[in-house]
Amino acid sequence: MTGILDIASAREEICLHGRSLFDRGYASGSSGNLSVRLADGSMMVTPTNASLGRLDPEAIAHLDTEGRLLNGAEPSKEALLHRAVYDARSQARGIVHLHATHSAAVSCMAGLDSSSCLPPLTAYFVMKIGHLPLIEYHRPGDPDLPRRIATVAREHPAFLLANHGPIVAGRSLAQAVNAAEELEETARLFLLLRGSATRLLDCEQIEILERVFGRATDA
Ligand code: ZN
Repeated sequence: MTGILDIASAREEICLHGRSLFDRGYASGSSGNLSVRLADGSMMVTPTNASLGRLDPEAIAHLDTEGRLLNGAEPSKEALLHRAVYDARSQARGIVHLHATHSAAVSCMAGLDSSSCLPPLTAYFVMKIGHLPLIEYHRPGDPDLPRRIATVAREHPAFLLANHGPIVAGRSLAQAVNAAEELEETARLFLLLRGSATRLLDCEQIEILERVFGRATDA
């Protein structure tokens, strides 16, 4: 799958993934938003105040490259964050933003390494996420946040917003969803293992993964 979709397929795919994430507890209430970038650079994004579990395909907002609404309902207020990632990553075709419990919990912890706030616990975390930078806290709607995101997203397909949650980009929406789920499950492992002596993957093991499977930063 190339990740390049037409408008109707993008609406369907966003609804399918939204429902799947909601049904399995990765999103609750009206939190979280999903988007797809089309071949012409325009973006389909979930509407404001919408539950990911009950999305109406016709209500998915279609925005042009300037952020003007072409079709659908009013977009999520966090659509600007998605646009900042697409502008920074030419290869990105799908983005997932969640307030999922375990990654949001990690985003609230003091003393995190802001260049990599989850350790290399498993091969699949290294392969799908790699380093997970932390972006310092911004209030909702802070105009500085898209600028910060633009800087970090150039090097990283996934990052964590402090006291908020993760944003994950992929070459397709399905790839972004899979990586976001891997991130949430790794955050869960990290919290489960707190207080236990933990063996992390070492530098050589990580280098082998990057050589065999490619670097997660290229996602
Ligand atoms: Zn959010």
